[in-house]
Amino acid sequence: MAKKTIADVDVSGKAVLMRCDFNVPLDDGLQITDDRRITEALPSIKSALDRGGRVILMSHLGRPEGKDPADDAKYSLKPVAERLHALLGCPVHFASDTVGDDAKAKSAALKNGEVLLLENVRFNKGEKKGDADYAAVLAAMGDIYCNDAFGTCHRTEGSMVAVPNAMVGKPKVCGFLVEKEIQFLSEAIAEPKRPFVAIVGGKKVSDKINVIQNLLNICDKVLIGGAMAYTFSLAQGGAIGKSFVEVDKVDLAKSLIASGGDKLLLPADSHCGDDFKGSCNKQVVEAGQIPDGWEGFDIGPETIKKYADVIKSAKTVVWNGPMGVFEMPPFDAGTRAVAEAIVASDSTSIIGGGDSAAAIQQFGLADKVTHVSTGGGASLEMLEGKKFAAVELLDNK
Ligand code: AMP
Repeated sequence: MAKKTIADVDVSGKAVLMRCDFNVPLDDGLQITDDRRITEALPSIKSALDRGGRVILMSHLGRPEGKDPADDAKYSLKPVAERLHALLGCPVHFASDTVGDDAKAKSAALKNGEVLLLENVRFNKGEKKGDADYAAVLAAMGDIYCNDAFGTCHRTEGSMVAVPNAMVGKPKVCGFLVEKEIQFLSEAIAEPKRPFVAIVGGKKVSDKINVIQNLLNICDKVLIGGAMAYTFSLAQGGAIGKSFVEVDKVDLAKSLIASGGDKLLLPADSHCGDDFKGSCNKQVVEAGQIPDGWEGFDIGPETIKKYADVIKSAKTVVWNGPMGVFEMPPFDAGTRAVAEAIVASDSTSIIGGGDSAAAIQQFGLADKVTHVSTGGGASLEMLEGKKFAAVELLDNK
């Protein structure tokens, strides 16, 4: 069921308590090195300000684990307040605590059209467990709750769950970022245009078992690549040389092969090297025929062709995880070919967060796909078909 968004509520004269993900990278001088997470949150913030509301922002930054802001400036959100002010041009106040006297006084004094950023929620012990006292203070600050922190949606920390739950009788909506992620990672997948093809790669099959299982239930084809393919190869009795493998997951790979049947496609060949360097000696071998002393670093040309053909005829594509060591050319070729086939297809294309998002950006193709998820763990869990408490509690349309 679609969730109400910030655009669906009357915010005029109201305080919107908004959970964002301002977990931005900072350099040693505490300068923000990439402000994408801030700029991406602006549409939801502006939507409330432009319609006569005021906005109280909550976020985490790193893991200060309940320490004091005075002891650890690298976890302070103060640089984010400064950047928000530069980007929004309206007054952006900063509270040096989250539920203390400064936050209480500044939230009470906040005027419509203004923004208040509270200090990192994770400086408070109550955030992790969602303590009732802690949640009650935050809940009292807002007339409306808005969740625009997709990267944290799979978590059940206080500002994600206990705070909105304590805002009994008040509207609870999502921001535009979360709306878009749910639309693609949940709704588009629930009613896909077919053929529906999933591509799953990356290092460890153990990280992606639940994703593969869920996708095998709902997709027409699941293409496997990356180092995890060698665990499948071993399960089929293949020789994998010194390739990365999870020996304790071989039985699991066997059961996925059995349950996947024709739906599950494994690499036909492998691009191998004799050392973990782009300049190593190289050879292409058939899957399951990797000689001793050699290591598979990418899918081979036959697999590229086979996978590209399947992808090009797809109407919905979901991709999570690279096909090889895409950071180390020439072993980026398989991942690049998959990205290019997705772009060439006439499909709704959804790129899961983490390394596949990094890869599509590296190839300059991010703006040619339908959706690149901003959440690593959250997008993976959504592809597993999991429901998030932080999303479920929001008002339905
Ligand atoms: P994951 O975090 O599980 O999505 O895995 C991504 C990482 O797996 C990337 O850093 C890739 O370089 C790495 N990777 C992919 N294929 C291979 C491979 N064949 N051998 C070693 N590492 C790989």
